[in-house]
Amino acid sequence: MASLLRLYNTLSRAKEPLRPIDSGRVRMYACGPTVYDAAHIGNARPLIVFDLLFRLLRHLYGADAVTYARNVTDVDDKINARAAERGITIRELTDGTLAQFHDDIRRLGILLPDDVNVPGRPPAMIEPRATDHIVEMTALIDRLVAAGHAYVAEDHVLFDVPSMPDYGALSRRPLDEMEAGARVDVAPYKRSPLDFVLWKPSKPGEPSWPSPGGIGVAGRPGWHIECSAMAWKHLGETFDIHAGGIDLVFPHHENEVAQTRCCFGTPVMANLWLHNGFLQVEGEKMSKSLGNFVTLREVLADWPGEVVRLAMLRTHYRQPIDWTLRGLEEASRTLDRWYEAAGDAEPGPAPDSVLEPLLDDLNTPAALGEVHRLADPASLKAGAGLLGLLGQTKSARAQAAVAASGVDAAEVERLIAERKDARTRKDWAESDRIRGALTALGVTVKDNKDGTTSWTVNP
Ligand code: AMP
Ligand code: ZN
Repeated sequence: MASLLRLYNTLSRAKEPLRPIDSGRVRMYACGPTVYDAAHIGNARPLIVFDLLFRLLRHLYGADAVTYARNVTDVDDKINARAAERGITIRELTDGTLAQFHDDIRRLGILLPDDVNVPGRPPAMIEPRATDHIVEMTALIDRLVAAGHAYVAEDHVLFDVPSMPDYGALSRRPLDEMEAGARVDVAPYKRSPLDFVLWKPSKPGEPSWPSPGGIGVAGRPGWHIECSAMAWKHLGETFDIHAGGIDLVFPHHENEVAQTRCCFGTPVMANLWLHNGFLQVEGEKMSKSLGNFVTLREVLADWPGEVVRLAMLRTHYRQPIDWTLRGLEEASRTLDRWYEAAGDAEPGPAPDSVLEPLLDDLNTPAALGEVHRLADPASLKAGAGLLGLLGQTKSARAQAAVAASGVDAAEVERLIAERKDARTRKDWAESDRIRGALTALGVTVKDNKDGTTSWTVNP
C-alpha cells in the first residue's frame, strides 16, 4: 500500500509515486511561518495540508519511519523592526508569537513535536528555529564560497547564479525573464542581477552574528539560506519531500535548491516538491488594505478548530480556496452530523474507500465524499480519522461545547429535574415555563423515547 502514494511534483509537473530514498525512513520538510505577527487564515492552509500528509505517511510507513521538519523563521526584517519598536529582543518577540501560534494550531488538530516524539527514539517531528542554526548557515556559505558558487562583496556574501547551469529548473522561468525582473534597483556589488544574498552586514541595533567568508564585521543571514541549513541538519543533503505555499516556488525554493545542490554537488535537493494553492476571502485577495485580513485567532474565536480544518480540506490543496462564511457553516453542519452518527464508537480499521483518494495526490474532496458514505460508526471514526477529524467522542465534544459556552451544567440538570417533576404532576404550564428558561440559557432539551431527557448547547 505504501508504495502507492502519488503526489504532484512541481519539479516534474506530473504526479509521481513516492519512493523513499532511505527505505526505512521518509523525510519531509515544510517551510513554516515567520513569527512576527499573528498568523492569518491563509497561513493555516499549508499547516493543515502538510499535517494531513504527515499523518498519512505515518499511517502508511509507521509512526517510527517518518521525520517531518517544519521550520520557524524567527529572524527577518519585519521581526527586527517590530522588536526594535517594542524595545525587546527578537527572541522575546518570537517566543511570544510562537507560543500563541502553537495554541492556535493545536486547535486545528495539527500535530506538534510533543504529540509525536517518543523519548529515546529519533524525532518524528522537529520544529527548528532559524536563529538556532546560524552555525550551519555559515558553514554552508563558506563551502559555497570555497566551491566558487558564492563571492564576498562589500561585507555581503552573494550566490553566483550564473555558476549554476540549471538554475531555474524548479520554477521553469526563462533566464531572461528572471533577469528583467531582477534588474530593478540592482545593488552595485552584484556581479549578475540574479545573484541573491546569502549573508549581509547588520545595521546598528540589528541582531548580528560572526560572519562567514572572512568578513570582519558581524552580520545576519539572508532569507533562503536558513531552510537549506535546517533541512541539511535535520534531514540530510537530499531528502524525499519539500513543501510550502505556491508563492514560495520562486525565488525562495529555487534559491534553496541552488544553495543545497551547489554545496553538496547533488542532482536534487528533494525528490518531490509540493505546493499548496492560495486562499482568498469571500472572492477577494486577502490584504490589510482591503480590510479583509482575517487572523487565525479571529476565526478560532467563532468556530471550533475542527470546523476550520474541515472547511479547509473540502478543497483540493492545489486549487485556490475561497474562504467563506458559508463554507464554515456547511463544515459545521457536516461535523454535527458525523458526530451524531459516530457516537462514542472506537475507530475501526482505516477504510480503503477513504484511503484510496488520499493516495491520489491527497484528493481530500473525494475522500470526504467517501466519509459521507460510511454508515458504520467505527468505520466513520476511522475514515474521518485519516483526515485528522472526529478526534473526540460525541460526549466529550458535547461537554467541551458546554464548557466553551459558559452554560452552568448543574443549573441545567436542576431545571430538567424540576421540569420532570412538573410533568409527573401534569403541571404543563410549569413544564413549559421551565423549557422557556432553558431556551433562554441557550439550551435545547430533547425528550427521548426511553423516558430520559438529553440536552445540547445551541451553537
Ligand atoms: P509567511 O509567514 O508569509 O512566510 O507564510 C507562511 C506560509 O503560509 C508559506 O508557506 C506561504 O506560502 C503560506 N501562505 C501565505 N499566505 C497564504 C495564502 N493566502 N494562502 C495560502 N497559503 C499562504
Ligand atoms: Zn523555506
